[in-house]
Amino acid sequence: MENFRMNTGIKRRVLIVDDESINREILGEILKEKYETSFAENGKQALAMLQDRTVHYSLVLLDLLMPEMDGYELLEKLQMKEDFAVPPVIVMTADGSAEVRSIRLGAADFLTKPYDMPDVIKARCERIIELYEDQSLIRAAERDELSGLYSREFFYEYIRQIEDYAPDYRVDAITLNIEHFHMLNEMFGREVGDEVLRKTGEMLTECFRDRKICIGCRPIADVFYLCVDHAEEYDGVFAGLQEELARVTKIPRIRFRIGIYQDVDKSLSYETWFDHAKQACDLIRGDYTRQISYYNKETNEKDLYRERLINDMDSALKNKDFVVYFQPKYSILEDRPHLRSAEALIRWKHPELGMISPGDFIPLFESNGLIQKLDNYVWQEASAQIKKWKEEYGYSVPVSVNVSRIDIYDPELEEKLLALISENSLAPEELMLEITESAYSNNAQGLIETVNHLREDGFRIEMDDFGSGYSSLNMLTTIPIDVLKMDMKFIRNMQKDEKSKKLVELVIDIARFLDVPVVAEGVETEEQLQALKEMGCDIIQGYYFSKPVPPEEFGAFIRKELEEK
Ligand code: C2E
Ligand code: CA
Ligand code: CA
Repeated sequence: MENFRMNTGIKRRVLIVDDESINREILGEILKEKYETSFAENGKQALAMLQDRTVHYSLVLLDLLMPEMDGYELLEKLQMKEDFAVPPVIVMTADGSAEVRSIRLGAADFLTKPYDMPDVIKARCERIIELYEDQSLIRAAERDELSGLYSREFFYEYIRQIEDYAPDYRVDAITLNIEHFHMLNEMFGREVGDEVLRKTGEMLTECFRDRKICIGCRPIADVFYLCVDHAEEYDGVFAGLQEELARVTKIPRIRFRIGIYQDVDKSLSYETWFDHAKQACDLIRGDYTRQISYYNKETNEKDLYRERLINDMDSALKNKDFVVYFQPKYSILEDRPHLRSAEALIRWKHPELGMISPGDFIPLFESNGLIQKLDNYVWQEASAQIKKWKEEYGYSVPVSVNVSRIDIYDPELEEKLLALISENSLAPEELMLEITESAYSNNAQGLIETVNHLREDGFRIEMDDFGSGYSSLNMLTTIPIDVLKMDMKFIRNMQKDEKSKKLVELVIDIARFLDVPVVAEGVETEEQLQALKEMGCDIIQGYYFSKPVPPEEFGAFIRKELEEK
């Protein structure tokens, strides 16, 4: 991955689109010291220039009112383009009311005419370009370099896009697993292992070359997922794959098994499609007579398990089998860490099934809407807990709760949250709201309106799992958020190589641009903490300080904080 941020020698090119030559001249004059400049007199000319692949534009400055093709129309056209990379656009206007419309059309920022503040203009241009490049770098890292397939998040995002585009299309979910992969790794070395994965990715894509839809990812080490258009049978599709793999890797006994969930049920979550395929695949583990196994709904245990969880939810709520745990967040920029806040995380202590991890039931409840009930319960418990701590210690620990996508579309959301804080005599800042980044990526408009209302009420919004989703640049610069929470995967990879470390810096950069504090979660070691501190990361959450604990245990953190004060 090229890192252009380091490459300061290259002048980036800015395209200035304005029908009035005097405006083009002024802007050209302001920018020429720092940038190469190109000019267009209307949208049509600009579009033609942008489509020319031999020139790379880092930014477009766009006037709105122009003859031939105006700024709005150009924005609209650019939104539909997928065949070339569209640079960020800053709209120039004397009319404040044009902002909303241009944001909807994807503008990243605004400049107001007349241009009497050259420094402001230069600074804006610079920051938007930087921000965009940071984001592109983060995205570029979303491919699994080894197999050339997508990462899990992006894979699901692409399926979502296909679904939006062709919801009636029938597709099959396929998973492929390499048998005894860890042994291969041990016997032949990592390099050979990597080669096996690389080849498998390559050959799998090859098998489905003539399908309309074929997207793949490698969610974990030796497992591959594919989403392809539906076929009645797969005899022969993978024929030769095994022999070929044995030949190129020179490992004669290499073997893989394949699970297929055909004609997926679109009402299930994407994760569930591949869970089904995986369950089918697991059925033939160690069975050397079969290589392909088809998912069969009737005989599926995991389905029954899910069914059970769904059925048990109501009584679990009644019996208080759901317990809210709290994980502390510490600010680390001072000499010693300070307890800053906490995150509320749900646990299910099932009387018969034992402790169930949220990973098992949250996605399930998210896929069928039940999450709303559960979240409301967690918010209630968390609010009551903040109040309790205040009474017990005279100390306020703000708690953030998770807000699922579906919650945001609850017309009573605002009312419910306001009622909660008033019942518990809390200030809205004490109950913070974490919304995952991916929630921002579709139907952003509705979400933004809701979030705006909540912020007007005084609630503070944290964007959770930042870097895993798909929010566009214009959304980032225009959505109201108060805290950025970096996705855990950045921390996990941080010490692996320089590149991954760079990504963490980019995220921190973006937070700075947005002028909000950044939280790193999943921090487990002193080393990670020090590295993050050096990079200017504000807040840390992770096992380094503590796992999520029940409220009684959390009291110890408050006492310690008070002692050290
Ligand atoms: P999340 O919101 O990203 O929460 C962070 C997860 O990371 C938690 O897992 C937490 O226990 C874990 N974690 C924290 N520090 C570390 C660390 O240092 N190392 C490692 N390996 N993990 C760490 P948990 O509690 O299992 O929750 C998983 C996910 O389930 C959450 O991810 C969230 O998306 C969802 N979830 C949990 N509780 C709720 C809830 O009340 N409502 C909703 N809607 N979702 C929830
Ligand atoms: Ca969270
Ligand atoms: Ca998170």
